[in-house]
Amino acid sequence: MSSISSRYDALHYDPRQDPTQALPSTTVDELGALPARPGVYVFFGQNELPLYVGKSVNVRSRVRSHVQQPVSRRHEQMMTQTRRIAWMRTSGDLGAQLLEADLIKRWVPLYNRQLRKRVRMVSWNWPDGDDRPTLTDGQWVVTARARFYGLFRNRRDAQLTLRDIANDESLCLRVLGLETGQGRCFGYQIGRCLGACCGMESLEAHTQRARNAMEKLRIENWPWPGRVAFRESDRQGEVGLHIVDHWHYQGSVERLDDLDTLPDTRGFDIDTYRILNRFISSDDAGIEPIPIDGGIDPL
Ligand SMILES: [Zn+2]
Repeated sequence: MSSISSRYDALHYDPRQDPTQALPSTTVDELGALPARPGVYVFFGQNELPLYVGKSVNVRSRVRSHVQQPVSRRHEQMMTQTRRIAWMRTSGDLGAQLLEADLIKRWVPLYNRQLRKRVRMVSWNWPDGDDRPTLTDGQWVVTARARFYGLFRNRRDAQLTLRDIANDESLCLRVLGLETGQGRCFGYQIGRCLGACCGMESLEAHTQRARNAMEKLRIENWPWPGRVAFRESDRQGEVGLHIVDHWHYQGSVERLDDLDTLPDTRGFDIDTYRILNRFISSDDAGIEPIPIDGGIDPL
């Protein structure tokens, strides 16, 4: 058991293994054991029920404020129910955020569940070569052809947004799939559509105009050929490599040699997308993306 726990404490995270038992832990009365460093902490209740998963760049002081300054009755109740506090160190804030999001998804802890209502987002996918976009739900698979536009809470919001764009840009609701029927659309009859439905505008021209109008909603494609290790190092010089493929977090390792120990899982993940975009766009000097797959072709 001790070898597993040191493995987790050593910044290695493999999502296939359930670390519940293996994590180092302490109680609310002995917070000194917690690391004053970046990481994720978990409050476990009776029968090992995960109550809450949180992250901080200083786990000890964050947990201390949970214990000493609960902000509400509910918060107080959560701390009263806490039997043990487990933790996992990470190489920094990025590692902590990726791990926190992954554990919340995996365990759906009681108090996280009540705090943030999880919604499955919807997006328009308009692959190259298609005449119209189609709606995709929840976890998307990013392929070479996929192009995603917008994130919506439900299909209706997605459709209303596309309809607004179509009206502003004189696009055809029928060609876009927002209206059923054949031939001239109603919009054409009242001068709102340039006529892609009846040959007055070519489909290519219509597609081009629609894509341009939707560009502001565009979700960045994965800009690398395959997996990328996001290298993060903390002030003590400890290094974490967070392995991500097409906005899907596969886990963290300390050395690239350990890569093969992680599962090759796929599927677009909205949390990973948001977290990584914040870090990439903030030009955080501490984060370095290292492409792993498909770099230079061997001769
Ligand atoms: Zn039309």
